[in-house]
Amino acid sequence: MHTHGEDEARKKFELPGSKTHYPPSLPFAITHMRLAIEPDLQERSITCEQKLSITILQDTDVIQLDAAELQIKSISAGSKLEFRSLDDKLIVKLGRRMKEGSRIELAIAYTAKPRQGFYFVTPDKHYPDKHLEAWTQGEATQAKYWFPCIDHPQVKFTSEISVTVQSGFTAISNGRLHKVEQRGKKQVYHWSESNPHPAYLASVVVGKYAEIKEGSLQYYVPPERKQDAPRSFDQTPKMVKFFEEYLGVKYPYEKYAQVVVQDFLYGGMENSSCTTLTLDTLHDKRAHLDFTSDYLISHELAHQWFGDLVTCRDWQHIWLNEGFATYCEALYWGASRGNDEFQYHMMQMADDYFEEAGTRYTRPVVTKVYKHPDDLFDRHTYDKGGCVLHMLHHHVGDIYFRRSLKTYLQRFANGTAETDDLRKVFELETGKSLQQFFDQWVFREGHPELKVDFLHDSDSVKIKVEQAQFADPFEFALDVKLAFARSKKTHTFKISEKESAFQIPVDSELEWFSIDPQFKILKTISIKAPNEMLVRQLNDGDTVTERVEAARALKDKSSDTVIDALKEAILHDKFWGVAAEAAKTLGAIRTDYAYEALKKCLAVKHPKARRAVVKAIGEFRKEETLELLRPVLQKDESYFVESEAATAMGKTKSRQAITILKKATETDTFQNIVAQGAIAGLKEFAGDKEIAEFLVEKSRYGNHHRTREAATFALGKFVDSHAVFDHLKSLLTDRWFRVRINACRALADAELTKAIPDLGWVAEHDLDQRVKRVAEECINIIKDATKKPKEVAQMREELDRVKSKNLELLQKVDRLERELR
Ligand SMILES: [Zn+2]
Repeated sequence: MHTHGEDEARKKFELPGSKTHYPPSLPFAITHMRLAIEPDLQERSITCEQKLSITILQDTDVIQLDAAELQIKSISAGSKLEFRSLDDKLIVKLGRRMKEGSRIELAIAYTAKPRQGFYFVTPDKHYPDKHLEAWTQGEATQAKYWFPCIDHPQVKFTSEISVTVQSGFTAISNGRLHKVEQRGKKQVYHWSESNPHPAYLASVVVGKYAEIKEGSLQYYVPPERKQDAPRSFDQTPKMVKFFEEYLGVKYPYEKYAQVVVQDFLYGGMENSSCTTLTLDTLHDKRAHLDFTSDYLISHELAHQWFGDLVTCRDWQHIWLNEGFATYCEALYWGASRGNDEFQYHMMQMADDYFEEAGTRYTRPVVTKVYKHPDDLFDRHTYDKGGCVLHMLHHHVGDIYFRRSLKTYLQRFANGTAETDDLRKVFELETGKSLQQFFDQWVFREGHPELKVDFLHDSDSVKIKVEQAQFADPFEFALDVKLAFARSKKTHTFKISEKESAFQIPVDSELEWFSIDPQFKILKTISIKAPNEMLVRQLNDGDTVTERVEAARALKDKSSDTVIDALKEAILHDKFWGVAAEAAKTLGAIRTDYAYEALKKCLAVKHPKARRAVVKAIGEFRKEETLELLRPVLQKDESYFVESEAATAMGKTKSRQAITILKKATETDTFQNIVAQGAIAGLKEFAGDKEIAEFLVEKSRYGNHHRTREAATFALGKFVDSHAVFDHLKSLLTDRWFRVRINACRALADAELTKAIPDLGWVAEHDLDQRVKRVAEECINIIKDATKKPKEVAQMREELDRVKSKNLELLQKVDRLERELR
């Protein structure tokens, strides 16, 4: 569907205030940093002495560094130097003109009470069980909040970081641990990293941990969670081995530490040789049934090559970090779980990108025009980036793909690269001209939106492919598979025009056909084909893609035969993803017969398929669903299925559900997932005063953060009460960033024009760039919503759908929990 042109779509990414960003010109290079840091965990402050080794590249008498909110005490280089701070810049006057090639070591003493970059976790009366802890987060441009630097990925330097802590605390940083020195009641941890890294990958974590060591692999978790650690980490050695073999390049660093911290702002951060991870990734045995840390762990590990060893030269090329880590995550998933899982993972990766493209904006993967580099950490960078690499993989072939990656990693090791560097390596290794490939997939926005039609007579099949997207036609090779009773044949066609038609002679009856059966091309697809063919494709498709595409294409059909076929797929397809897609389609068909079919599938074995069945049942909003799902909520083996059951029970809008759901919010499960589902169910009772008060209580500081987030968002349905509106306004300045984000989303969900000034305040003043951006987008959602004509019910429904998708995406700021990468 195209309701807007490219310009408008781009404006939605490029919010007002966006500008073209170029990498900085630097008349000097930083080659080494020594940083002695002493955090005061109670006072939430740091005291530091830094020594920066600098080589002059152009004759100069000043050095300008990035430094934000640091109290600089003194700067010297042999003798004291004059300096001044201007906003986020620190200007050091050298007192003489230094020649190109000469060197200087700046010694900078400073203190800070950082509001960003360096974070402290302290217990309080609401969360007495929290551990005292501190951790850093540099990416994108927060390193300057804890040390003077060039806060840009193009400057890489080696480092020695020493951290002074109270005895009993551990400090983890980049590189090798040289020694731990006792100084009275304090200990000094001396770390040194001999591979150059950019400022944003410098890391310090301080806390009390259970430490698990397996050779050069180290895991740090809160002591009381030690028994959960293997579930998250025990695949790490296999992953290291896999990437080393796949890429042909050894793991680049002296150790690999993974540290789990409280209140982390992302899923994970790939600091070189010491990844920081969210506590939310640790999980119990029951969650392990249908939750895995493998995506997150493999993503961050892959960054050690893509991002850390070879760093994007500028933020505009951030997909070279994130697209690769996202694709590597899929590669490991495929290697460990098989080709079906791999293919479905790629399809979901594409879906995640399509959601953003369909509801939020489209933009070129590489763009210099943005407001803040944090804006670039979206589905385009991660998921479209991953899909582009997948296409490149197929385009050049596996051997050449891997050979090119090896060359790329070797050539730019310990340095930086940009998109053209990657292209040139691939061209050199393959002999192929790839400019057109990169132009259309990376430097241009959008993707092919294919409409496929086919005509069949006794001696030929005619396939018509239309590229229906607003943008110019793409050029790519498209596989078309024809299935006959006794044989199958795949033809590959070159697509380059807006419309193409191919005639294929056949000598027997066509049973079914499929487009791009291996999912090589990033595209949306709508196929006109008879029911019978789609049903056969669903039953007999060889690849997951074929069966999933068939299940999806059947959503506009509603005959009993189709429903029976979908039911069979749920119960008997060998891959859970096909079952889940079939369930989703039944949920969309929404006839009584479809409901009955889903009821019969409630016992389907795979928990992810069952989750989809329960969710689809909820779509019918039937009162009888309440009794049907009550036992599921009470005793399914999967938390996630229970959570879906709770939401679906709310959708019945039966008042009997209320007590059950309130009780379910008290459960204590992995990520409080059941409570979250119950709160989503309670959201259905929009306007109910008592539930509003209940949710206000659940959203308050002191509850589990996941519960608070869900309750905050749900309150958007209850804002007709002044008390709720005022409460949501107060949550806009909450301590926890995802509560702030959800408060914005709730106000957007309610389309409250009167909330615009408060959202505007958040967009201006919040410290977290992601919260700012969400606030700004929410203002636009409210403005758009109030512009739309309200009388057309159907349009309204469509709008609601798009809006809720959009809001859903705004919540996924933390990279699917996969990373955050
Ligand atoms: Zn990442």
